Amino acid sequence: MNWKWPKVYAVRHKDEAIRADSRSGGIFTALSDDVLSNGGVVYGCVLTEDFAAMHIRAENVGERNKMRGSKYVQSKLGNTFKNVKVDLDDQKNVLFSGTSCQVAGLKKYLGKEYGNLICVDIVCHGVPSKKVWGAYLRWQEQKNSCKIINVDFRNKKDFGWHEHIETLYFENGKSTNSRIFKTLFYRHMILRPSCYECLYKSVMHPGDITIADYWGIDKAAPEFDDNRGVSLVLVNNEVGEKALEQIKDKLFWKQTKLEDSLQPPLEAPFPKPENREQFWYDFKNKQFEYISKKYGDYRLWNDLKIFIKKIKRKIRKVVVNGE
Ligand SMILES: Cc1cc2nc3c(=O)[nH]c(=O)nc-3n(C[C@H](O)[C@H](O)[C@H](O)COP(=O)(O)OP(=O)(O)OC[C@H]3O[C@@H](n4cnc5c(N)ncnc54)[C@H](O)[C@@H]3O)c2cc1C
Ligand code: SF4
Repeated sequence: MNWKWPKVYAVRHKDEAIRADSRSGGIFTALSDDVLSNGGVVYGCVLTEDFAAMHIRAENVGERNKMRGSKYVQSKLGNTFKNVKVDLDDQKNVLFSGTSCQVAGLKKYLGKEYGNLICVDIVCHGVPSKKVWGAYLRWQEQKNSCKIINVDFRNKKDFGWHEHIETLYFENGKSTNSRIFKTLFYRHMILRPSCYECLYKSVMHPGDITIADYWGIDKAAPEFDDNRGVSLVLVNNEVGEKALEQIKDKLFWKQTKLEDSLQPPLEAPFPKPENREQFWYDFKNKQFEYISKKYGDYRLWNDLKIFIKKIKRKIRKVVVNGE
C-alpha cells in the first residue's frame, strides 16, 4: 500500500563510471545490483539491434547493463508479465522496471501482492511513436549515405546531463548530433494517444520507487549538481524504503522537499497538440526531410550550433578538468 505522499531524495551513485553510463544519477544500477547480488532477476528495457525498445529479463550484470540509458520510444513487453509471474512463483526476487503504465499493468496482471517483487517506475514524459523513430533513422542513413550502427537518445558524455542532443553513430566511424527527434518528442505530436490521458502525471505512482532526472536540483540540493546526473527518487511505500536503505552505502544521497522537486510530468498530462492531425497527415504523405524542417526545426544553422557546443565543452573539459 503506497503512502499518501512519497519521501523524496536526491541521489548520485558513488561510482563515477556507473553514473556516466546511466541516464541520471545511477539509481537503477544500485537498486538492481542489490537484487542480482542476492540471486534475483531484473526486468527492464533494452535497445534491439534494429534500434527498437524491448523488455528483457537479466540474470547478470552484463545483461542488466544493456538496460541503462533512456530509450525514448515505446518498449515492447512481449511475454514479460508472464515471465515475471513464473519467477515470482519460483520464489525468486524480482525487480521490474518500466513506465508507470507498465508497472500498473503488471500489478493488474499479477492480481495479488508478492513479497519478493520490487517495482521501479520512471517519471514518464510520454513515449514517442516507433514509426517516426524508424523513419528518422532511415532519413539520417540516406542523408549520410551510411548505415547506423549505434544510437544515443541523449548524449550525456559529450554534452552534459542538462542538454538533450541525440547522437547517431555510423558504420564508417562518423557520427551526427541532432535535436530533431527530441524536438518532435517535446512538441508532443508523436506521443502515444494514451499519454495525453496518462493516469500517472502526479506525485502518486504505482511503483514502490519512482525514479527520474532531478530537474529542480538547483533549488533542492544545488551542491549535488555537477552536470553529470542526479536522480530524483520518490519512495512510495515500505518496500521502496527498505530497498533504498539497503543501498545507501553505494550512494551520495540527501532527503529533499517534494515542493522543490516538481517537474511538469509530476503535475498533469500534456494536452494533445492542435497540429497533431496535420502532423500525421504530413508524416504519411511527405518525405521525412519535410517533416524534419516543418516540425523538427531542422536547419543547417542548428547543426552548426550543436557542433560549436560540443567543441566548447571539449575545450572546457581539457582546460578546467584536465580530462
Ligand atoms: C520514455 C521515457 C520518458 C522519460 N521521461 C522523463 C521525464 O519526463 N522526466 C524525467 O525526469 N525523466 C524522464 N525519463 C528518464 C528517467 O528519468 C530515467 O530513466 C531515470 O532518471 C533513471 O535514471 P538512472 O540514472 O537510474 O538511469 P538508467 O540506469 O539509465 O535507467 C534505465 C532505466 O530506464 C528504463 N527504461 C529505459 N527506456 C525505457 C523505455 N522506453 N520504457 C520503459 N523503461 C525504460 C530501464 O528499464 C531502466 O529501468 C524518461 C525515460 C524514458 C525512457
Ligand atoms: S505517459 Fe503515461 S501512459 Fe504514456 S507511456 Fe508514460 S506512463 Fe504510460
